[in-house]
Amino acid sequence: MSTAVVASAAFAYLALLFGVAHWADGRARAGRSPTRSPWVYALSLAVYCTAWTYFGSVGRAASGGLWFLPIYLGPTLAMVLGWVVLRRIVRLARTQRLTTIADFIASRYGKSPVLAGWVTLITVVGIVPYIALQIKGIAVATAVITGQPRDAGAGLAWWQDSTLYLALGLAAFTIVFGVRHWDGTERHAGMVSAIAFESLVKLVAFLAAGAYVTWGMMGGPGELFARARAEPALARLLTLGDAGSFAWSSWLALTLLAALSVLLLPRQFQVMVVEAEDERHLRRAAWVFPLYLWLINLFVLPLALAGLLVWGPEAAPQAELFVLRLPQAAGADALVLLVFLGGLSAATGMVIVESIAVATMVCNDLVLPWWLRRHARAAPGADLTGLILRIRRLAIVGLLLLGYAYYRVAGDAYALVSIGLISFAAVAQFAPAFFGGLWWRGASHAGALAGLLGGFAVWAYTLMLPSLAKSGWLPRAWVEQGPWGVALLRPEALLGLQGFDALTHGLFWSLLVNVALYVGVSLARPPGAAEAAQALLFTGGDGTAPVLWRGQASLPALRALLARIVGEARAEALLAQQAQARGVAPAALVPDAALVQWVETQLAGTVGSASARRLVASVVQEQPLHLDDVLDILQETSRLRALSRALEEKSRSLEEATQQLRAANERLQELDRLKDDFMSSVTHELRTPLTSIRALAEILRDDPDLPAAQRRQFLGIMVDEAQRLSRLVNQVLDMAKIESGQAEWASADVDVVAAVRHAAAAAQPLLEARRAMLVVEAAVEQAWVRADPDRLQQVLLNLLSNAAKFVPDDGRGCVRVVVEPAPQGERVRVAVIDNGPGVPPAQRQAIFEKFRQGGDGARPGGTGLGLPISRRIVEHLGGRLWLDEAYEGGACFVFELPLLAQRQPPGVH
Ligand code: ADP
Repeated sequence: MSTAVVASAAFAYLALLFGVAHWADGRARAGRSPTRSPWVYALSLAVYCTAWTYFGSVGRAASGGLWFLPIYLGPTLAMVLGWVVLRRIVRLARTQRLTTIADFIASRYGKSPVLAGWVTLITVVGIVPYIALQIKGIAVATAVITGQPRDAGAGLAWWQDSTLYLALGLAAFTIVFGVRHWDGTERHAGMVSAIAFESLVKLVAFLAAGAYVTWGMMGGPGELFARARAEPALARLLTLGDAGSFAWSSWLALTLLAALSVLLLPRQFQVMVVEAEDERHLRRAAWVFPLYLWLINLFVLPLALAGLLVWGPEAAPQAELFVLRLPQAAGADALVLLVFLGGLSAATGMVIVESIAVATMVCNDLVLPWWLRRHARAAPGADLTGLILRIRRLAIVGLLLLGYAYYRVAGDAYALVSIGLISFAAVAQFAPAFFGGLWWRGASHAGALAGLLGGFAVWAYTLMLPSLAKSGWLPRAWVEQGPWGVALLRPEALLGLQGFDALTHGLFWSLLVNVALYVGVSLARPPGAAEAAQALLFTGGDGTAPVLWRGQASLPALRALLARIVGEARAEALLAQQAQARGVAPAALVPDAALVQWVETQLAGTVGSASARRLVASVVQEQPLHLDDVLDILQETSRLRALSRALEEKSRSLEEATQQLRAANERLQELDRLKDDFMSSVTHELRTPLTSIRALAEILRDDPDLPAAQRRQFLGIMVDEAQRLSRLVNQVLDMAKIESGQAEWASADVDVVAAVRHAAAAAQPLLEARRAMLVVEAAVEQAWVRADPDRLQQVLLNLLSNAAKFVPDDGRGCVRVVVEPAPQGERVRVAVIDNGPGVPPAQRQAIFEKFRQGGDGARPGGTGLGLPISRRIVEHLGGRLWLDEAYEGGACFVFELPLLAQRQPPGVH
């Protein structure tokens, strides 16, 4: 492909990125930033996948099979298992306005400028080669796609090498992108959106290439893997390795390394913690990011195998370019361009975020402290915002030039190829101080510094040094025989430790020394006053700090300082906000300890906590705090806090009580209304039989000459009505008892099958009177429930007698009782089915209401209370009762009861 096409595609793509960033910035100003979406956040985390992974995973898979996996396994574990810890870190960073990992660590250990400086230095040493790798990635990919020899630039002088201009271009791009304007919040909605967009492009490009090669070129995964298995050299890649008994230790080391770097790499800390718009996004990211990693790895192995099948096992060293070369070989030009843009995304994304993050560290933790020490007194009032911006821009250019220089020198040497993991191992040295500081209050500044430096030294000796030696810049004998021939000092077999691979070995020793020094020195030199306060803040749960400051300050001095660092306009806005929060006018703010601390936190967001401390100290008169003072203040704060918590608690419980009262009152009113309804229904129901008894009795009294037959008939009706009355009264009382919760419930283990048979026997005469048949069909031998046996009989008899009332009496009547396990759950189901007229659809709801009788209502003896009482009883026993509306050809009443998991003998029923 011609250079012109490639270059214009690349420029067009970068322009598109700008478009995305610009659009996102615009929306952010309108208050609708795309970074409010958890998806954008999750995708931005995928800046983790750099050119090193984009091209390199296939390379590693081609020589080591599944060995590329731990790089993704680690982050997955970290996200899935560690998101609660991450949330705490995000919270801390937000409340303390910590904007870099150096600042985070330094702040935890008493805002130590020394610690911040060292963390920054280690980062720069670890990261520069990593940046070089990205530059190389772009350079090589460009060479491949344009068909130039890979080392086209090698013979040229440095100023003729196009890669230099690539590096400078990247620097310019990053500056315009990230540090163009600056509002002091250190959040970049535009950048994050563009990064998320790039993550999508990476993924789509890689998946497209993978799918194309797998299906389009190799005839599908089945065939591809079958062919690979047929060749011994490739079949080896499909197993977890024959690398000896220590293979698992390597897996473990790689996984741990990757898990740590997903947070500790500067770019990861930037996107995951600093740019976090909302800590709730972590929940989404906890599965989206791992899913992303899984997807982007789907075709790594197929691509590696395909390349090795096409070009033979000798091609393994060039496997990094398979993803470009395979589609190229097939002539799929558009795809090649897409893959190239994916690689460009991976590299630029990493370079942009990493250099912004590292430049912030270099500015805040190396250059500014030095500058402040030299110039603070000379020009106390000067506005520093411009200076800070300039330093950051220079730092970005510097970083990229360093990266380029490293690339120039290291080229294809080992030192560059393996640098990804070595960089990971460098930042892994932050882990003990970083994570230890979140839990261990006794960890001290001295301990953290000792651990960090010790670990870094061992890292340099066991990992960096051999990589330099393998590149030919140091005598190889140093590595192979040990310095001055002392075998115990061999960098890759320290103290005779052998059998691990170099990385595992280095990681093991460096972290061991790191942790040992961290713990040991912390114990020997416990934290001082200032540190203790910070320790409390970081280890305590809620992230609010006690105000640990004593001295005198003046409002104008504080305001001037704030304006100097964050700019006049923003300083005024911030102070106005603070005044509003305190409910006073901005001019009336009292420069008390809380205000001083607040100013310091605001400054920290811009210049880092160590410099902020120094700046504040320069404008106020401080009294040095001793450990006793700290303890006093802490005691006072914790007393106050306990007091306010108690108050809060009290008002909360009051509120709760009010709510409960209100609910109870509403319920009472409802019950009262129900009772009124009930009373009027009852009286109505009682009046009907009473009226008819009275009428008939009056006739009997007034007319002594009534024929005897008529007299008997009247008396018969009166007896019937009286019986109905007493049934009604009984049922009303029963209902009232159940509803008011005053009914007494016996409790026993009851076999439903036996209970059904018992009830059937009792109802038999009723059915015989109607010349109907009664069948019991039990699908189970026994079904034990916990119930009141009499009440259960009451329900069954009610259903059976209802059925008996409704079956035809012409000899075709039939009532079936079916007992079977309920379809869902541990329940037993009883259905009482008759072949009567059934319940008309319009009445199916109503029949369960009190005093509701269906049909003409003219059946004698009915009260309309049977079904409601039965339903209450079944519900009381934990089940439910309903009319099966789907059943046709009669009525089908069903109830279910929960089965006993275990029946306590002896059973009673
Ligand atoms: P009642 O004492 O009137 O039977 P219920 O509450 O037991 O009171 O029943 C209410 C109404 O439900 C009955 O009046 C009747 O209309 C209807 N019903 C109950 N069982 C059946 C059935 N097996 N077939 C048809 N209708 C029924």
